[in-house]
Amino acid sequence: MMHGERARILSKDLDSPAFGYVANLIFGRLGLKEVVLKTSSAKQIELEIPDSGRTLRISPFLSGNKPEDLLKTGQLQLCMADTDEFVRGLLFEDKLPILTLKGSSCPTPLVDWSPDSASINFDLFGSAFYILTRAEEMTDTERDFHDRFPAKASHAFKNNYLHRPVVDEYVEILWACMKRLWPQLERKKTEFRMALSHDVDVPFAEAFSSPLRIGRSIAGDLLKRRSPGKAVKRIGSWLAVKRGDWRKDTNYTFDRIMDLSEKYGIRSAFYFKTACTNPKYDDGYSIDHPYLRQLMRDIHSRGHEIGFHASYETYLDPVQTKKEFRKLQKVCEEEGIEQETWGGRQHYLRWKAPTTWRNWAEAGLSYDSTLSYADHVGFRCGTCHEFSVFDLEQNKELPFIERPLIVMEGSLLGEHYMRLKPEIAFSKINQLKDICNIFHGIFTLLWHNSSLQSIKDWELYKTAVYCYHRFF
Ligand SMILES: [Zn+2]
Repeated sequence: MMHGERARILSKDLDSPAFGYVANLIFGRLGLKEVVLKTSSAKQIELEIPDSGRTLRISPFLSGNKPEDLLKTGQLQLCMADTDEFVRGLLFEDKLPILTLKGSSCPTPLVDWSPDSASINFDLFGSAFYILTRAEEMTDTERDFHDRFPAKASHAFKNNYLHRPVVDEYVEILWACMKRLWPQLERKKTEFRMALSHDVDVPFAEAFSSPLRIGRSIAGDLLKRRSPGKAVKRIGSWLAVKRGDWRKDTNYTFDRIMDLSEKYGIRSAFYFKTACTNPKYDDGYSIDHPYLRQLMRDIHSRGHEIGFHASYETYLDPVQTKKEFRKLQKVCEEEGIEQETWGGRQHYLRWKAPTTWRNWAEAGLSYDSTLSYADHVGFRCGTCHEFSVFDLEQNKELPFIERPLIVMEGSLLGEHYMRLKPEIAFSKINQLKDICNIFHGIFTLLWHNSSLQSIKDWELYKTAVYCYHRFF
């Protein structure tokens, strides 16, 4: 199962869709099949293990507010709490973002102990719910040029914790409390893995281009990129492609990508576009073309994944989303490509909560992997684990999974974003990969086929993919 087992929550007065969703998600992550929860007279959530005589209390979900109150600006908000000795010893962090009522101070200590009980003095379930639903993006109207919620507007970036999967940290806090009260409990083990994905924005640089466009690219190689080597390589590729050897195209890096993934036993995902809704930002290739069909057959026959890359103008448009995904399904069907799961990513990471999730679920897709920020790498959803998503507008869980993107190569290197030098980019990649490993999560990396042109590009990509964790 993609998102882990579901826990059965037995509770009389806590059965709202929102609480059921987040409790299921957290206890399911721990692999606890059945959990008994109730509300105390002080409105706290109480967790008991029968016949143990011990109780874990947790602050009320959303401080007693309704989920829709999250959309009323500022009523509930994140604050940076000082960690106490217990939490600090667990996370090695001085601060923890938690959800509180506007105007109330951060609780201290975060966890209280007595011989037979413990109290988590902050809204652990509500904090996780708030971050996972992306409620923050629904109330904050700041957007960038491409109508995206920018990292720089986020509480995580402003408070320097975008590199921390804080929802996963909450799970660790909860588990540490439970283990101390009930040492006999065992949790489910998950294993770190890498998820490599490749948005096919421009499958071919020369094969579908006019001599004029190629001339412009060559001029760009010489004047803008100051790379005569690139220009020579491009002319060579163009001539080879014109002779019919289309795999010599400079953007045709697919075989080498698959070779590298196979070396580490990783299944790469290639997300294809099927439409052009904005000629300025969509390349407009046709997956009907024999080259694309052959490429998709090759990817499939080597055991890698075909996925969906929704065009620039789709992120608010359920009809266009469905139409583009149907097109991909049709071509795959014609080519005999069958897969159990279909997922992908929005072009330019254009995405809006919860509309785009809903559109994808309605189109029949299983998962999305859009959710990193374009302008900064890290944990936009506060987790490195896949999770089923909650539609805050309709107050219900959707039959749909988010596999959060952690690093897009363009965020690290792109001139509009972080603009890191390759050696700094390398250490940033490794930092985030290590964190995913610590939390036994998924390090999801996006590297475009068109971003692997030079030896230097390949060097960085190879070090990003290198799975040293496998050798321990
Ligand atoms: Zn794209």
